[in-house]
Amino acid sequence: MKNLVWFRRDLRVEDNSALFEAAQSSTEGVIAVYALTPKQWQQHDDAACKVQFWLANVQSLSQSLAKLNIPLLILKSSTFEELPKKIVALATKHQCSSLFFNRAYEVNELRRDDEVAASCDAAGIAVQRFHDRVIIPPKEIATKDDRFYKVFTPYRKIWDTKLMDRMTLRPAPKKQKPVAIEPDSVPTKAQGFQSSTDIDALWPAGETEAQRRLSNFADHIGQYSSGRDLPAENGTSQLSGYLAAGVISSRQCAAMALEVSGGRISDENEGARVWVSELAWRDFYTHVMVGFPRVSMHCPFKAKTEAISWRDDEDDLKAWQAGRTGYPIVDAGMRQLNQTGWMHNRLRMVTAMFLTKHLLIDWRLGERYFMQKLIDGDLAANNGGWQWSASTGTDSVPYFRIFNPFSQSKRFDTEGQFIKQLCPELIDVPAKALHDAGKLTKAIAETGASYPSYVVDYKEGRERALAAFKAL
Ligand SMILES: Cc1cc2nc3c(=O)[nH]c(=O)nc-3n(C[C@H](O)[C@H](O)[C@H](O)COP(=O)(O)OP(=O)(O)OC[C@H]3O[C@@H](n4cnc5c(N)ncnc54)[C@H](O)[C@@H]3O)c2cc1C
Repeated sequence: MKNLVWFRRDLRVEDNSALFEAAQSSTEGVIAVYALTPKQWQQHDDAACKVQFWLANVQSLSQSLAKLNIPLLILKSSTFEELPKKIVALATKHQCSSLFFNRAYEVNELRRDDEVAASCDAAGIAVQRFHDRVIIPPKEIATKDDRFYKVFTPYRKIWDTKLMDRMTLRPAPKKQKPVAIEPDSVPTKAQGFQSSTDIDALWPAGETEAQRRLSNFADHIGQYSSGRDLPAENGTSQLSGYLAAGVISSRQCAAMALEVSGGRISDENEGARVWVSELAWRDFYTHVMVGFPRVSMHCPFKAKTEAISWRDDEDDLKAWQAGRTGYPIVDAGMRQLNQTGWMHNRLRMVTAMFLTKHLLIDWRLGERYFMQKLIDGDLAANNGGWQWSASTGTDSVPYFRIFNPFSQSKRFDTEGQFIKQLCPELIDVPAKALHDAGKLTKAIAETGASYPSYVVDYKEGRERALAAFKAL
């Protein structure tokens, strides 16, 4: 009998738990399957660029698997609903005795997986699931009274103690016994997901590219703690799209950081320590989503913030989405998102806080827009980032600590290099004017730059947000 491996957000052959175990235990060969579920993707607001990126990576995965004698088959199913029946039919047709997959943690995906497992069970097909997307599985870190942590720092302390035990990387499987099945061709596009982002140029597909980015970043990781907040510099790894699609594992990332730090995370390599902390944040937000599933169902973590009187202002929302708020750092961030499918972390915080505080617009609208645009859109991390910025989440920024967009740009884009790259109409505006409301208005008048005036006075916006939160 053969084994069937179901690929989802783990599009790689190296260090893939489900694939490795399926290959280890198979005597008659391994078959792989990937399901196209475009309607479901639409319901989940998955970005067009992300779907295109997934497909390019599935194509690359199919080629790697073919070299191991593992054919990749494509299942078409508009939503998750039909998957249990279709997967069982596929396994039965090809005489597969077991189904292997890596766990998903989102509510709909968990339900889907349970239904697939139940159908397999009824059909006599064994199911094996693995924790693979995160370094430390969500339920493995608990408080003394066996609850989910709500705060990152104590969670991180335990995460650190468990890290080394989780660092066994699994190699790509050996060549399998050939099966007489041809791989399916992988479509390059999915209907309804047309992206204007040049994916091939910006986010080339494949494990080789992900590993190239990782090793390139390894050369600069020492400067991560100082460079990671400067959007004009390539101070971060830009691996998030690859991590979110599972083209690289977070274990592989942590292994690199450990290697450059002499085998243990310590203060000696500050950059590596801080970077691993980001991988821990990634696990933490998945842990929060599993422990408090309401956060993935459009509910704030802090229930009382449900009562905030968010403003319903379509024009302001549109100006923010288009990068036309009149605040250069906010606009540069939003334009980076719209043009590339990715935004620098500092700017994600600045733009998210601007929407939820200065404009007092519901964080859920921003969360949704990000999801519709991001190449790395991930429910747990995106929701965590939005609820952090909106002060509605667990361990989030206190509501009165509102980033001033001008101070942020002065501090993190002092020369205005990043702003001018994304907002070329401001090219002749002196850098100092980019960080000061009065000087900016004057410089725009003098240079004749075609740049929008402020969508809100930031001081008034700040006061309005403080009043809304204080009223709770
Ligand atoms: C409002 C908002 C929305 C966000 N939405 C997402 C999202 O949908 N998907 C996503 O992967 N990240 C999200 N983040 C977190 C972070 O901004 C991105 O992970 C990071 O910018 C990706 O760039 P990088 O790969 O160069 O990161 P690096 O700085 O190189 O970090 C390495 C990896 O660690 C993880 N990581 C880093 N920071 C965080 C964080 N704060 N939370 C969780 N994981 C983190 C990512 O997987 C990242 O690739 C969001 C943050 C905010 C404030």
